[in-house]
Amino acid sequence: MSRFAFVNGRYVPYRQAAVHIEDRGYQFADGVYEVCEVRGGRIVDERRHLARLARSLGELRIPPPMAPRALGFVLRETVRLNRVRDGLLYLQVTRGVARREHAFPSAGTRPSLVVTARARDRAKTERVAETGISVITLDDNRWQRVDIKTIALLPNVLARQTAREAGAGEAWFVDEEGFVTEGAASNAWIVTGEGALVTRPAERGILRGITRTVVFEMAAASGLTIEERPFRVDEALQAREAFVTAATQIVMPVIKIDGTPIADGKPGPLARMLRARFHEAAEIGE
Ligand code: PLP
Repeated sequence: MSRFAFVNGRYVPYRQAAVHIEDRGYQFADGVYEVCEVRGGRIVDERRHLARLARSLGELRIPPPMAPRALGFVLRETVRLNRVRDGLLYLQVTRGVARREHAFPSAGTRPSLVVTARARDRAKTERVAETGISVITLDDNRWQRVDIKTIALLPNVLARQTAREAGAGEAWFVDEEGFVTEGAASNAWIVTGEGALVTRPAERGILRGITRTVVFEMAAASGLTIEERPFRVDEALQAREAFVTAATQIVMPVIKIDGTPIADGKPGPLARMLRARFHEAAEIGE
């Protein structure tokens, strides 16, 4: 099946899709991105993802590549052209193409916009969720502005690779005080012995995940107790449950941390319930 990518104003065959070597994304990782889940051909939580994109762009003073409605159209068209039923939508905006110099290029430089979509086997992801994943912990060696969803992901890349080499599905970053910040590409949660959900406040040290927000609201609406506070690795090891959230994983149970099983080493009931009910709480597009 032929795939297409949207690159700077045009839908082009995926194999021919390319950006200039002087693109500031390529040169400096000077850009931001979003990943949305596509389910049944519809984009999940588009409004929230576009709101976060606008915030990330604003923090870096990159102008929006196009008006929000037009961007929404491009996203849906990219999903449609690629005939994605279940999969992921990726969008990236960089500060554009300019002669290499660290400081910003001239004000007229057009931001670059790339959008791709690809199908994913939903049954396969469900099978992973049935067994859950292991995580390892690593020192958080990232910059301080991890609240901005930038494409500068080298520490995250290295952390994921370390996890993979250790046979784990995710790496949890740990700050200087021993508190878990978040995963290499997900937010981290635990459930206490009393049944409270614990996740780190999004004000410092983590990305405010869209999935985290939806799960938070859903849990609150279901009357669950939520403690928005940092937690240490040793608290996580004693937890009743652990899980991660991300658009790519929804709610993914964590069954082991650094080789130690969490509770009975099986996905916990709260994680399973939140996963099963996630799409009732998410906003699903047309
Ligand atoms: N934290 C990091 C570092 C991420 O890269 C991601 C997603 O890629 C998340 C959290 C989860 O965010 P979301 O739920 O919006 O996918």
